[in-house]
Amino acid sequence: LEVSTPVGRFAPSPTGDLHFGSLVAAVGSFLDARARQGQWLVRIEDIDPPREVAGAAERQLAALAKFGMTPDRPIMYQSRSRLRHEAALDQLLDLALAYPCGCSRKDLPPDGIYPGTCRSGIPEGRQPRSVRFAVGESEVAFDDRALGLQRQVPARQSGDFIIRRADGLIAYQLAVVIDDAAAGVTDVVRGADLLDSTARQILLQRALGFSTPRYLHLPVIVDANGRKLSKSRAADPVAALPAGATLALALEALGHPPPPGCQNLASLWTWALEHWKPARIPLGPVTVHDGRVESY
Ligand code: GLU
Repeated sequence: LEVSTPVGRFAPSPTGDLHFGSLVAAVGSFLDARARQGQWLVRIEDIDPPREVAGAAERQLAALAKFGMTPDRPIMYQSRSRLRHEAALDQLLDLALAYPCGCSRKDLPPDGIYPGTCRSGIPEGRQPRSVRFAVGESEVAFDDRALGLQRQVPARQSGDFIIRRADGLIAYQLAVVIDDAAAGVTDVVRGADLLDSTARQILLQRALGFSTPRYLHLPVIVDANGRKLSKSRAADPVAALPAGATLALALEALGHPPPPGCQNLASLWTWALEHWKPARIPLGPVTVHDGRVESY
C-alpha cells in the first residue's frame, strides 16, 4: 500500500503585489502541506499578459521569502507549459468535449450563462472566436475539507465555459487543472473566491483522465465595509508590513491565533505547524480592520 505525501501549492497571478488576502492563501497552503510532511510548490500563473504587472511575480516571490515560505521545488511558471496546454485543448476538441464558439460577450444573455448557441455548430455568418468546454447537465459533488460537502451544477453556474479565449490565450480554468495534475498536486488550498470554479475544474479533470485533488477553501478576507481586500485600501503590499505581526494576523484569520509568547517568524511557524487543523478554519468571510481580525 502506497500512501502518497501531500503536495500543495500556491498559485498567484502576477497582477500586483502580495496583499493580505493572498498571504492568507499562501500561509494556509504552506501549513497544510508542511504540517503533514508534504511538499509545498509555488506556481506563477503568468498566462494572461494583458492583466500582468511588470515585476509583480518577483515581488510576490520576495514577499513569500520574507515571510519564510520557500517552495520545495523550483518555481514553476505557467507560461512555460503552453505546449502541454495546447495538447490538452486539442484532446478535448478531438473527444468532442469542447467546441469552437463564435459568440462575443454581447451575444450572451444578461446572466452571463452561456446558452449553448454554438454547441452544434457556429451559426452562419459568424467566425470561430473562442473554444468552450461542454459541461452537460449533471451535478458535481465534492467534499471540501473545511466547508464539507459541496454540490454545484455547472450548467446553472456558467454553462459551457471558455477554455481558449478569443485572444488565443488558454483560460485559467483549463491551465490550472493541467498544471496541478502535471505537478502531482494532491491538495488544492486556496481562497473561497475560487470555490465556484471547482466543479468546472473537476469536470475538466474527468475529461482529461486526471485524478481529482482534495480541496480546502479558505475564508475570503474582507475589510470593514465587507468588501474583498483586493479592492480596498487594506490591500497594501504585505512586504512593507512587519513580518511577525502580519504572519500572526494571518494565522488568526485562519482560526489559529498564536499564543502571546509567539512573536518572531521562527516561533510562529513552529507553533503553527504543530497546531494546524483545517477544522479550526472559519467558514465565512473574515473581517480584518486596522491590523486586527474583527469578526468571523
Ligand atoms: N491564479 C489564481 C489566482 O491568483 C489562483 C489559482 C488557484 O489557486 O486555483 O486567483
